[in-house]
Amino acid sequence: MNLTKQFADLQEMCSASGNATGIEALVIGGGTSGIATAISLLKAGIRPVIIEQAGSFGGIWSLDRHMACYKGLIQNTAPNLTLLDASTTDRKNHYTYHEYASLIEDLYNKYQLDSLTFFNTRVSQCKRCDDGFSVEVVKTGSDKGETGTDSLSLDVEHVIYAGGLYHKPYVPELPGLDSYRGEVYHSSDIDDFERFSDKHVLIVGLGNTGGDYANMVSEVAASTTVSVRGDTWVVPKSFQGLPIDEYIQTVRAKHEDYASQLVDNLYGEAVIKIGAPQTLDFTKARITVNSDIIGKYHRGLIHIVDEIIDVQESTLCFSNGDSQSFDAIIFCTGYEMSLPVIDDVSFDEGLVANIASKQVRNLWFIGCPAVWGGSPPVAEAQGRLVAHAIANEIDIEQLESLVSTAPHYEQGEQLTSLGFQVVEFTGYINFVDYICSVGVFKERVYG
Ligand SMILES: Cc1cc2nc3c(=O)[nH]c(=O)nc-3n(C[C@H](O)[C@H](O)[C@H](O)COP(=O)(O)OP(=O)(O)OC[C@H]3O[C@@H](n4cnc5c(N)ncnc54)[C@H](O)[C@@H]3O)c2cc1C
Repeated sequence: MNLTKQFADLQEMCSASGNATGIEALVIGGGTSGIATAISLLKAGIRPVIIEQAGSFGGIWSLDRHMACYKGLIQNTAPNLTLLDASTTDRKNHYTYHEYASLIEDLYNKYQLDSLTFFNTRVSQCKRCDDGFSVEVVKTGSDKGETGTDSLSLDVEHVIYAGGLYHKPYVPELPGLDSYRGEVYHSSDIDDFERFSDKHVLIVGLGNTGGDYANMVSEVAASTTVSVRGDTWVVPKSFQGLPIDEYIQTVRAKHEDYASQLVDNLYGEAVIKIGAPQTLDFTKARITVNSDIIGKYHRGLIHIVDEIIDVQESTLCFSNGDSQSFDAIIFCTGYEMSLPVIDDVSFDEGLVANIASKQVRNLWFIGCPAVWGGSPPVAEAQGRLVAHAIANEIDIEQLESLVSTAPHYEQGEQLTSLGFQVVEFTGYINFVDYICSVGVFKERVYG
């Protein structure tokens, strides 16, 4: 890796160009969303500045172990839904964390993004001013104010937030939790599972993180139980030889009523069904992809309980009236949505509101807060749309009217709880392709 530029280099760049250098596009975050956006901007003729608070790029999929979520993380998404070049050889169905991070590194190097990225530098605040933003950046680890030597103010025309969704761990408020006598963790607190050896552990939540944690805890703990709220299906990563997302795509292509067809096909196979198992409503049921826990659940190595309603010292009470004691609780309950660097900006849903602020002109979001979350293929499409809009000076109102008349709009707009569902991705990407191809706007050529 060639991680050359740091905060001091940004300082030097600014003083060389008369201190607060005018930057056309500043990307906050060098994760997969930031990388996808930077590549799109380059292709549209814009050289962005990327600010990354960590010492390495890739975000959750960084080769730097300290930035990764947890060891053992494996991509759920099919290879065609990762942020990879079509030319990437040696594709496999589900990349391990290390394999995917290495492929992201190749992409980063291919587009020479190290020449654009400043590491160990954090955007602390973006203030709106007349023709853009005044962006405060600080050296990571520095808490000096605006006048400190470790801080800098940049004049920026377009700010593109690609800083990810995972900042504020979310733990639900539970009556009595303060008085709990056992250990309490959020998933983000844990990087080794040995501490759960021979303990009775309750995991709260059966999303993708809850599923992975249940699997890893069950390797060492005396017992592993998962508390689940609402209808949930756990499906394997692959089904009938295809990655599950590709498999769903093929069912959808063949059957109009694809949801009930999927229920017929998956039902009775190795899946976990909690709640109303006869129906699979994509807008209501949670679908978790995890091959490892299905067998363990059926063999009685992982137990499922209802939602917690009350905590009494070391006993937890569940909504079906059961109660049980545990040594430790791990909340795999995700994160609160927040945009830490910009005040007073609320998120709206919608295909354009996902990427452009309605309140603040020239403020863009990639991978956050997408209807689908920050999955790489959507981030790539969003990055392309934003790059196209900036290069062609299209504002949010124009974008909205273009979007609403694009073919496949309905498909693109369709919501789903299955975060990586291919068909909706295809709809979204189709209409991005359409908008970026309409003849009135010409892309600049990057020289
Ligand atoms: C456990 C887990 C499993 C997942 N599995 C999958 C999967 O299988 N397939 C899939 O497609 N998606 C998966 N995802 C979704 C994941 O969010 C995306 O794959 C992707 O990593 C999101 O990229 P991002 O760049 O938006 O955010 P991140 O990867 O979080 O990167 C954000 C970057 O911005 C930097 N940053 C943040 N704030 C600032 C600031 N103020 N100044 C400077 N830098 C800043 C951070 O240091 C980080 O490098 C998973 C997510 C989690 C948590």
